Amino acid sequence: MSEPDAGSDLAGVRTRATDNGDSWTISGTKVWTTGAHIAHAMVLLARTDGTADDRQQGLSQFVVDLPHPDIEIRPIRSIDGQAHFNEVVFHDAVVDSSALLGRRGHGWQQVMSELAFERSGPERYLTTLPLLRAWTGHLREQGATANQRVTLGRLTAQAWALRQMSLQVARELSAGGQPDVLAAMVKDLGSTFEGDLVTAVRDASGIVPRREGGTHLERLLAQSVLHTPAFTLRGGTNEILRGIVARGLGIR
Ligand SMILES: Cc1cc2nc3c(=O)[nH]c(=O)nc-3n(C[C@H](O)[C@H](O)[C@H](O)COP(=O)(O)OP(=O)(O)OC[C@H]3O[C@@H](n4cnc5c(N)ncnc54)[C@H](O)[C@@H]3O)c2cc1C
Repeated sequence: MSEPDAGSDLAGVRTRATDNGDSWTISGTKVWTTGAHIAHAMVLLARTDGTADDRQQGLSQFVVDLPHPDIEIRPIRSIDGQAHFNEVVFHDAVVDSSALLGRRGHGWQQVMSELAFERSGPERYLTTLPLLRAWTGHLREQGATANQRVTLGRLTAQAWALRQMSLQVARELSAGGQPDVLAAMVKDLGSTFEGDLVTAVRDASGIVPRREGGTHLERLLAQSVLHTPAFTLRGGTNEILRGIVARGLGIR
């Protein structure tokens, strides 16, 4: 989905797929494409009809097989030194006509329903749960103070409430509904929780994060601290999600 000039404003995508009859020619650049360097295929949102002024109209989705001789995948290094995501450049890459996913011109509607699923899934509130589990194990061995027990209980209750909200979105999607507003709430609350958990464990434990050496818990804490800035960006920023919620509540 994302492009250098189309992140929050996704309807501004410029990548173009031109219909050749029995194939499509794709040109443009995508960015932040997670896992493109190891994936066998990527789902692409591109303009097939009209112009950029048509915004949500005229967009379509494709499943593009990777690697491809005319698709360049450049790794982007993040703050933790790893390269999970990429810039993906389409140099007039030709794909078979069967690469079209769903209906031509319905890309926007298809992407919106996928985002409701993505925004409410476990990976949007459980990313830092391994840290909570590791800290719980540590407290079990070392003993916990009253304040540490309170922190542990509060975080566990929050994770449980988010799980119930996430399951409700899944139920509504299965029933054919469009739970966009609830999904946006899960992602906003869930990704905030992921970061708050790291701060709470760090404050309550007094453990010093270490990138190398040290204990498993110290390394996990360091990794969690470095990943935290991404939580409220990926899958749609919290500002955008709150806009969706406000619109759903009729106050925007
Ligand atoms: C770890 C990670 C993995 C990712 N993986 C993928 C992936 O696999 N595929 C993919 O397509 N994308 C991926 N992304 C991209 C992600 O979806 C975008 O970063 C996100 O949508 C924001 O777009 P942007 O970076 O262009 O920021 P911008 O849209 O430029 O936003 C910059 C800032 O302005 C704010 N802002 C923008 N518009 C408004 C508005 N109307 N109202 C209020 N505030 C606004 C934003 O909230 C943000 O704080 C990933 C990002 C990260 C961090």
